[in-house]
Amino acid sequence: MRDPFRIDPEQPTGISFSGGRSSAYLLWRILEANGGLPENTKVCFANTGKEVEATLRFVRECARRWQAPITWLEYRNDPAGFAVVDFTSAARQGEPFEALIRKRRYLPNPVARLCTGQLKIRPMYKFLRSCGWTEWDQCLGIRADEPRRVARIRARGNSGESAHEMLCLPLAEAGITVRDVGAFWRKQDFDLELLSVNGRTLEGNCDLCFLKPQSQRLALIQARPEAALWWIRMEALDFSRKPGGTRFRIHAPSYAELARRAASQRDLFARDDGEEPIGCFCGD
Ligand code: SF4
Repeated sequence: MRDPFRIDPEQPTGISFSGGRSSAYLLWRILEANGGLPENTKVCFANTGKEVEATLRFVRECARRWQAPITWLEYRNDPAGFAVVDFTSAARQGEPFEALIRKRRYLPNPVARLCTGQLKIRPMYKFLRSCGWTEWDQCLGIRADEPRRVARIRARGNSGESAHEMLCLPLAEAGITVRDVGAFWRKQDFDLELLSVNGRTLEGNCDLCFLKPQSQRLALIQARPEAALWWIRMEALDFSRKPGGTRFRIHAPSYAELARRAASQRDLFARDDGEEPIGCFCGD
C-alpha cells in the first residue's frame, strides 16, 4: 500500500504549514517517511499578522528542532503579491490582513471568505511559481476526522489558483485523527503553547477569526481584551457602500459589542445553541 507521507522525488511538493498541531504533525510524518525534507519539497507558512505569538514561536521551533526550512510568507498588495519574512520581521499587528481589506474595500465574512485564499493560498502559490514550479502537489494538514473539509477539498481537487496545483491530504488518507495528533504532541518535549479543548485550538489561526463561535470569541476577548482592538478598528472602516461590508458577521454582534459584553462579563457563559466553528481552509 502506498505510504501517503512518501514524496515522489520527481514531483515538486509544497507543504502548507498552518502553524497548528496537525500541520506540524504532517510535516513530521513527511520528514520521517522520507529521511528528511526531500529536495523538491518546500514548506510554507503564511502569516496573516493576526496569528498569536505562540503560533509564531511554534513555527520557528518546528523548523529549528526538526531542521526543516519553513518559508514564512505574507500577503502584499504589490505586483509580486507576497513577501518572504521571518520570525523577527513577521507582522504582528494584522498588517497583511488590513492591506487586503483596504484593497478590496470590504470585510471578509462567512459568505465571502476571501481571507484564506488571498492571505494564505495565493501567497504560497505565487511564491512557488516564483521558484519556477509549474505543476506540483500541495499537502494540507486536514485530518480524517474532518470529513466535511476532506470532502470539499477532494471535490475541488486543486487549490483554485491553478489546475496544476493539486491538493493532497496525507493525514486524511492515513486515517489520522485528532487523537493521534494529540498523542504525538504529548510525547514531544515542545508543543504549541495554546490551549486545546477537545482537540480544537481555540486561539489557532487568526486570534478572533469571525468563523469561530461567538462564545469562543467572547471568552478569548475576556482573556485578552486587546485582541479585539484590531477587529473593532476594521469594522469601523467606512465601507458602508459595499453590501454587508461593515461587519465580519452581519447577523452576529459586532466586535465592539463583544468587547463590551466581555468587559461586563455578561453572556460569557451564554450558550451559542451549539454553534460550531465554520470550516475554512486555514487548517489546524
Ligand atoms: S483564520 Fe479566519 S480570519 Fe484568518 S484567514 Fe482564516 S478564515 Fe480568515
